[in-house]
Amino acid sequence: MKTIYRYYKDTEVSVLATKIECPYCGEEWMEDDMDEPGATYTLTCDDEINEGCGKEFEMHFDAS
Ligand SMILES: [Zn+2]
Repeated sequence: MKTIYRYYKDTEVSVLATKIECPYCGEEWMEDDMDEPGATYTLTCDDEINEGCGKEFEMHFDAS
């Protein structure tokens, strides 16, 4: 079996975190993998660190 070696110089950021802001209470947090252009995501304001308001809302992501 062949072996390859990778180092830190071979790494790159593959997950883009999107800054979310709750339209109800203004709570802000980051979500990973929510960067599909034209996609609509349903989110719940239930941040584990800072307590959110628990309300659901939609987030639409666009490329520009
Ligand atoms: Zn909220």
